[in-house]
Amino acid sequence: MKKAILTIFAGPMYSGKTTKLIKLAEVLEAKGQKVLTVKPAIDTRYSKKPVLASHDLKTVKAAFVDMNKPEELLKMAEKDHINHIIIDELNFFHKTKTIPVIKKLLQKGVGMTGAGLAYDYRKKPFGPTLKLGKMAKHLIWLYAICQKCGGPAQHTERVGGGTGQVVVGASEMYIASCSKCHRVYRG
Ligand code: ADP
Ligand code: MG
Ligand code: ZN
Repeated sequence: MKKAILTIFAGPMYSGKTTKLIKLAEVLEAKGQKVLTVKPAIDTRYSKKPVLASHDLKTVKAAFVDMNKPEELLKMAEKDHINHIIIDELNFFHKTKTIPVIKKLLQKGVGMTGAGLAYDYRKKPFGPTLKLGKMAKHLIWLYAICQKCGGPAQHTERVGGGTGQVVVGASEMYIASCSKCHRVYRG
């Protein structure tokens, strides 16, 4: 079995990561591939149902996976003879458990594409995104628009919701900002 390709999209919130994944799912399915699209069970911002939803509210069907049990992906892929797995919100998945699961799936010939925040609102590495990006054949950095100055934004800035690393929210809690404008939220 030929080793499959890993592609990672990394960037701040609103940089279009989920939009890219939704498009990819459509294209692969149109080519007749069996695609499994997943997200961590934690992310119910735009829908309680398992769908990938962009901030533009475009959606594609997905399955929830327990972020502490990424090995479930192996069973799911086998059961449905999946050719390609698309994972959104990689940052929420367990850092050390997720990487070997992805390696195994690639060995089995399952194409893998993931998207997530590389850094949290303090600019600290967030989950397995960066490590996976370094392993990936293709690592694509995406930018949003800085909500303070209008320039290209590579950071996610928290503007509410406390100081824990994992706080799921959208525009009420996070904005995109550039290096010059970014401030670390102190509560
Ligand atoms: P991500 O998954 O990276 O958070 P999405 O694909 O869900 O991003 O959403 C991208 C969309 O978010 C853009 O097409 C745009 O309509 C919207 N958006 C809201 N705020 C911003 C911003 N600051 N910069 C760029 N796009 C933004
Ligand atoms: Mg997203
Ligand atoms: Zn700025």
